[in-house]
Amino acid sequence: MRIVVALGGNALQAEGKPATAQSQLEVVTETVRHLVDIIEAGHELIIVHGNGPQVGRIVIQNELADVTTPAMPFDVCDAMSQGMIGYHIQQAIETEFHQRGMKKDVAAIVTQVVVDEFDQAFQDPTKPIGPFYTQEEANKLSVEKGYVMKEDAGRGYRRVVASPKPVEIVEKHVIELLVEQGVIPIACGGGGVPVVMENGHYKGVAAVIDKDFAAQTLATALHADMLVILTAVERVAIHYGTPQQQAVDAMSVEQAKMYIEAGHFPAGSMLPKVEAAIQFVQENPGKTALIAALEQADLALKGESGTIVHE
Ligand code: ADP
Ligand code: MG
Repeated sequence: MRIVVALGGNALQAEGKPATAQSQLEVVTETVRHLVDIIEAGHELIIVHGNGPQVGRIVIQNELADVTTPAMPFDVCDAMSQGMIGYHIQQAIETEFHQRGMKKDVAAIVTQVVVDEFDQAFQDPTKPIGPFYTQEEANKLSVEKGYVMKEDAGRGYRRVVASPKPVEIVEKHVIELLVEQGVIPIACGGGGVPVVMENGHYKGVAAVIDKDFAAQTLATALHADMLVILTAVERVAIHYGTPQQQAVDAMSVEQAKMYIEAGHFPAGSMLPKVEAAIQFVQENPGKTALIAALEQADLALKGESGTIVHE
């Protein structure tokens, strides 16, 4: 099968540990074992990953150093995070291949994703990025740099950006060529660098594309057989976090929509995964999407774990 996997926060960084390069590589090294299992089983794999905490840190590093060297704008920080995370993933996979005596190529692709400049999301930016500021600093930044600043749960002010839907992946043909040549691409990191088309050229914008939606867009573009979203829970649940919690092994698009309607999936976490899964299944009749735990990825592909979303 041709499989697009989306990796979440837990696959890239240990919670509560200092975010050193070493600790990131350690987590990634563990993560890629599960991915290489899938590759070893004979599947074609395309890897998409998140970048929330990582790009946030790059932004902080840039803002703090602005007195010495100009801070890079957000889209450039996004591209940096793709390089940083992609580098660790590709190196860790190469090491794992070497240990298993496997021979395959893997490469991270800096990926731009077109968004619609009239996307409703731009009217209501919700994604906080970078450091906290005082009200005074926040006012200054919104005047000087045009940033949208919002108060964040009593902890101070933060810059917020929009989270528009992905429309098209600029590098999709390159990614497809790589897959056809047996290469494992790492693409659309952090949901991709968001760009808009302006007077015939691409222009980076300050926004965050959800990585689950980017993975779904890529999976459809590549005619993937399956979209696999790997996260920190074994299965999607209804009544999550209550005594009535119930794991879901499989749900039809119709059932999934009913669960959304009933409010079972929070906007910042499980909702985008279920919505991306629904969209992939709707765009690709007869195909399925899977939401599963990273550690159970191979079991889930055998139908023994995870939540399948089907027609
Ligand atoms: P990732 O970082 O992997 O993209 P998130 O942390 O944003 O994922 O969202 C996944 C998390 O959402 C799960 O680990 C779980 O803690 C939480 N969650 C919220 N609602 C549900 C639900 N209904 N079923 C399963 N997990 C849920
Ligand atoms: Mg997370």
